[in-house]
Amino acid sequence: MSQTSIIRGSHLFTVPGPDGRWAALENGAIFQRDGIVEDIGAYSAILAAHPDAPVVGSDRSIVLPGFINGHHHVGLTPTQLGSPDLPLELWLIHRLRARYVDPYLDTLYSAFEMLASGVTTVQHIRAGTIGSIQQSEAAAREILRAYQDVGMRVSLSFSVRDQNRLVYGDDAAFVASLPEELQSKTNWHLSRFEASVDEYIELFHTLRADYSGARLVELQLAPANLHWCSDGTLRKFADVSEKYDVPIHIHLLETKYQKDYGLKRTGRSAFEHVASLGIAGSRVTIGHGVWTTESDLDLIADSGTHLCHNCSSNFRLRSGIAPVNEFRSRGINIALGVDEAGINDNRDMLQEMRLVLNAHRKQGMDTSDVPTPAEVLTMATIGGARTTPFGENLGSLKVGCCADLVTFDWDRISYPYLDDNTPVLDALIRRATPRDIQLVMVNGKVVYKDGVFTGIDQRDVLEKLSAHMQRPLTEAEQSGMMLGEALLPYARDFYRS
Ligand SMILES: [Zn+2]
Repeated sequence: MSQTSIIRGSHLFTVPGPDGRWAALENGAIFQRDGIVEDIGAYSAILAAHPDAPVVGSDRSIVLPGFINGHHHVGLTPTQLGSPDLPLELWLIHRLRARYVDPYLDTLYSAFEMLASGVTTVQHIRAGTIGSIQQSEAAAREILRAYQDVGMRVSLSFSVRDQNRLVYGDDAAFVASLPEELQSKTNWHLSRFEASVDEYIELFHTLRADYSGARLVELQLAPANLHWCSDGTLRKFADVSEKYDVPIHIHLLETKYQKDYGLKRTGRSAFEHVASLGIAGSRVTIGHGVWTTESDLDLIADSGTHLCHNCSSNFRLRSGIAPVNEFRSRGINIALGVDEAGINDNRDMLQEMRLVLNAHRKQGMDTSDVPTPAEVLTMATIGGARTTPFGENLGSLKVGCCADLVTFDWDRISYPYLDDNTPVLDALIRRATPRDIQLVMVNGKVVYKDGVFTGIDQRDVLEKLSAHMQRPLTEAEQSGMMLGEALLPYARDFYRS
């Protein structure tokens, strides 16, 4: 038997018009069957057409498409795992101290935060994988099990590296520059990366085949970054992406050091170089892109490459402020990513959207040259969807699209007073917090309602995670912690020279 429901609201923002504005359908409703939007219209008409379908939402609800977190890595945050906000390159070294966290519990931890802020789909990029390919495969299956249990949509990729694991230069040369007592410990760390690029590509194929029938799961590709990948590896990923029509998400030009590295290695910009290897176009998303040049941006726009803007992360790791207004003026598709953790050290997408809304308000009198609330909503929905294999089926609430949505309590947002002159959507993007969310629906199923996850016991998961983290440190964890601290001054010297 099919599963149906009606979602009603005082204002439904279903899809932006050609002018980029999201016009509201007032006192409307959506009818969904088995996770697909089948009908949209006036509430009375939808109810009359589908009298047996249960109704969610009310005549005081605001309905939006579910948000897409376009760039996510971990559950417990670096702060929780003992690493402070440092410049990215030093922070990566300090992160060697990160303890092993059970991937199932870790994934659920951040999934709770995401869903509670209206995120229905996440681009999960598993980074820093240590151990054998079998261990990576086991972790991937646990991550996917977690998303399926909580009822969230995911596109999973592995951030794959084959070189320069410590600094933006040859590992052996960096190790040789270290004091002798650190050399063997550092080599021990490097030896922990057992899986090859080919094994990761094989794993991608295996998982993609195994989950081909799972409506909430997609797989994609993530060569980690120019400095982390040889040209041969980048070409391999470009070939797989083209052959199987699968998106690539690549970190690129996140910091000035990455820009300098690209120029030094290739004699041209990092983006020009990866584009020459086939990593550009509508299947490719650049994560960060803070240090893109004018000519990079022209090339990104001309090729239809997407950009994922990770605003909080760029602030916290001192990467800089991405030229988002330049992305916008060229019509580049922009996704939003909370990355490791947002500005408040959680995965609150509403907070991230508000940060993006405010971070690019440059001086001037022209109202069109800074992001509007409607544009930020587009970035967090359609913009993000386009960077995933789900594509146009997500991010808006048109007939035929996935019934992934979030409803807000308008009375809470507008209480105790809101002038009629303030557009509903502007008020929501400016003011809404996770507390104002009534329910989150993914694939036609209510997975979160009134602060409670319907498919899983949040308290039980958090207790298990807390107990899991009380275990004594393993020898490997102790070594990682020591190494993370000990290598910092040498890494700093590397970038200073
Ligand atoms: Zn990242």
